[in-house]
Amino acid sequence: MPRLFGTNGIRGVVGKDIDVDFAFRLGCSVSALFRTGGILVGRDGRDSSRMLEEGLAAGILSQGRNVVSAGLIPTPALQFLVKDTAAEGGVVITASHNPPEYNGFKVVDSDGVEVPRAKEERIERMMDAREWRFSKKTGKRFSPEGLLETYLRSLKHHSGVTGRLFRDLRVVVDCGNGVAGLTTPRVLAELGCEVVTMNDNIDGRFAGRPSEPRPENLGGLSRIVLEEGADLGVAHDGDGDRALFVDETGTVHWGDRTFALVEDEVLRENRGGRVVTPVNSSMAVREIAAKRGGKLVLTKVGSIFVSRTMLATGAVLGGEENGGIFYAPHHPVRDGTMAALLVLKAMARNRMKLSRLLGRLPRFFMAKEKFECREDARKKRAIARLRARLGRRVTSTLDGVRVDLDDKGWVLVRPSGTEPLVRLYAEGRTEQDLSGVLREFRPMVREAVGA
Ligand code: MG
Repeated sequence: MPRLFGTNGIRGVVGKDIDVDFAFRLGCSVSALFRTGGILVGRDGRDSSRMLEEGLAAGILSQGRNVVSAGLIPTPALQFLVKDTAAEGGVVITASHNPPEYNGFKVVDSDGVEVPRAKEERIERMMDAREWRFSKKTGKRFSPEGLLETYLRSLKHHSGVTGRLFRDLRVVVDCGNGVAGLTTPRVLAELGCEVVTMNDNIDGRFAGRPSEPRPENLGGLSRIVLEEGADLGVAHDGDGDRALFVDETGTVHWGDRTFALVEDEVLRENRGGRVVTPVNSSMAVREIAAKRGGKLVLTKVGSIFVSRTMLATGAVLGGEENGGIFYAPHHPVRDGTMAALLVLKAMARNRMKLSRLLGRLPRFFMAKEKFECREDARKKRAIARLRARLGRRVTSTLDGVRVDLDDKGWVLVRPSGTEPLVRLYAEGRTEQDLSGVLREFRPMVREAVGA
């Protein structure tokens, strides 16, 4: 039976891996997971998303289930609405930041978080065996008004921004031609920011810049921040669950820095609490949790593990090094608009520019490297070999193999869930510590992968 779900739902090239028949079969299969209630369906701005939505909806309707259409919508908004409305589950059609020829599906459980692995397997089995019968009674399709407003209201409420806190803040939002153009500029303006937008037309070809917000793609945003004399630049990916930030000097910061800042603020305001982060996160996250009386919970790499662990442990905050921030009081999923609100709140509360705020946080040196490794079985063997060789030095096997080196740093080697790669992550307290770690472990990984 083919495995369809990866670390981020189903993804593939349209016309090759996924097509309208695939969407239809997915609709039929997803219907079996949910007994009653409607299924909320939304999509990103890709050219193929509308066609896939029609196929998916036809499948759901054919099983006698109702479809609640949310139309164009960011992933975190659809996830929130599944929890908040009478819908029993949801599907969002998106390939996040992948190039335009891709598309995909995220299936959302009734708690508003992506379905667990057991339900993914059930869908895979049903799709493979076409294990359904068409219902005599056709479902109904609704397009309720005001869904996005409900989401924006919760964002504003749970951000805790009151009065004129944001009145002096000038923000440039680079929507990257994605669906966050529907939410972030609006909510920031409603909370009193002066907002300048760029790439705010929804365009499935991502004409303005590549859809993944990475420092090398954000030169345009840096320039506009400087030209406009703005306090902050925000850049989203195609489905609006991630945000990367540019400070007032035009410098782009990677997501681990802004997550550390938000962690510091949230734990201070909350007087402690649990924070969930994957096992490849910076030592800064651990040190801030210790300083603010918080408790850190580590998970495997992947946003679904962060969300599910947050629900299970009652955590207040989650974060990933790629710019994902999960804020439980609103909803424990990765949300780029919420991330922007929390970063702005930290700036406004402390009356400080972003460059200074980030400069106050502990700073270490990180490296990521990749090693080609084709089949899953080979990846597994490489990790097992490394684990045997490192023996008692291994400190965690939660995801791959991790070794902590006293206070000097750590190294993690794990198989990629989406690419033919084994990844090495390392961090050092100083630059010398980091190069020491890499000198020692790089040859070991090369040997384990190549052997
Ligand atoms: Mg995304």
